[in-house]
Amino acid sequence: MYKCPNCGGNLKFDIATQQLKCDYCLTQKDPYEVTKEKDAEENTLFDVTVFTCPQCGGEIISTDTSVAEFCSFCGASTILGSRISREKRPSYIIPFQQTKEACKQAYITKMRRALFAPSELKHQKYIDGFRGIYIPYWTYTISQKGTIHINGSKSYRRGNYLYTDQYDLSGELDACYYDLSYDASSSFSDNISEKIAPYDVKGTKRFTPSFLSGFYADTADVDSCLYQNDAIKLANSTSLNAIMRENAFKGITVTSKKNDFSLSSSLNTICNPPERTLYPVWFMSYRKGDRVAYATVNGQTGKVAADIPIDIRKYLLGSGLLALPIFLLLNLFFTFKPTATLVFSLLLAAFTFLVYLLEIKQIYHRDMRTDDRGYQFRQSPNEPQSKSRNTAPESIPSTELLKYGIGFSGSLAAIMIAILIFVINPVSDLWYYGGAIAAFAGILVTVMAIIQKYNILATRKLPQFERKGGDDRA
Ligand SMILES: [Zn+2]
Ligand SMILES: [Zn+2]
Repeated sequence: MYKCPNCGGNLKFDIATQQLKCDYCLTQKDPYEVTKEKDAEENTLFDVTVFTCPQCGGEIISTDTSVAEFCSFCGASTILGSRISREKRPSYIIPFQQTKEACKQAYITKMRRALFAPSELKHQKYIDGFRGIYIPYWTYTISQKGTIHINGSKSYRRGNYLYTDQYDLSGELDACYYDLSYDASSSFSDNISEKIAPYDVKGTKRFTPSFLSGFYADTADVDSCLYQNDAIKLANSTSLNAIMRENAFKGITVTSKKNDFSLSSSLNTICNPPERTLYPVWFMSYRKGDRVAYATVNGQTGKVAADIPIDIRKYLLGSGLLALPIFLLLNLFFTFKPTATLVFSLLLAAFTFLVYLLEIKQIYHRDMRTDDRGYQFRQSPNEPQSKSRNTAPESIPSTELLKYGIGFSGSLAAIMIAILIFVINPVSDLWYYGGAIAAFAGILVTVMAIIQKYNILATRKLPQFERKGGDDRA
């Protein structure tokens, strides 16, 4: 902790004033003026308290020593274990701009529109659980300066002939991309960081440890080289597109090789060593059974992203109230013919079957976190860097699909009943209506399963961290 020079109380970073402020006597200090002996900039490490969750193994750090009473990753209310350690010093930080009050307000506004969300998500007690956490990012600065060479061609028709002119385009390029940033923590899911992006890098400040006072930070455990190629690719394609939009290059097709190696050499792309930067996030977790949902608010811009499950009772009540008037309205304008009714239920059954299948695919990929490169990297850091890093297979194994049999059986039965009746082609219309009713019952089974699976999709598996420690720490 940082001691108040006036009364010895705990100085904490105050968002409203962007200064360190004493809880007791309200003394204010500039964060750069308040340092501990070991905070000097020459040091590559700084002192932290590491808090570890006994249930999931998740870790967050702080410069404070006060007890942490819940875990932001798995939502457990438990005293986190703590130990003193040293952490690699980030180069930059975007300090929190949004106060906790502003963050709660932004969240409440968003949740007002979530009609079917469980009421607990809107309780004051839950909303008070927002915790300010700095998330580490790797930021890359890429420059492209000097004379560039690009080959291009332009084709045109004159009479019966097709002419193609070849161009060797050259020019001066002076481009610089600052702070292309990528989530450096494997515990913070990439899809969360994408949803609350972007951050305004103009708010970036030189890091000093006292900024963390009163807040937490996640540790950077993803290798810096993981995202370097992405950053280079982004810079190359952005520059190339900008160049080709120039008047002189109108109508010309690039014939130079477009792989990143050749582009980097024709554009003189230089990637500076990546820097550690901390970005502010208000973070909250909601645990239900063995699933957890996260709500996050960008601590600089106030952008909200939340996993919002559906309360089935609320949903059935809501959609039932809506379906009744629609049905009565339709009845006024159309008379349902027996075959049409059955065809309709057949199509509906096929549709729900498909929706359910897509949903299960999504759940599978989400739980395996196949799209989260930082996480995949932690799972198998020694594999050569490539897209095939994913440890989970791309398509769902059929054993996974079998687990969801009941949901499928509803619409499948509906499809079979409908087809059977069409094949038999009975004389009485009653068969068609009866078949349609039976099909709708089957469809309802699948729809219930869809909602239940939607909730799984809107939430996450409880995290289980296997922190081996060491490789990224002193
Ligand atoms: Zn004081
Ligand atoms: Zn935990």
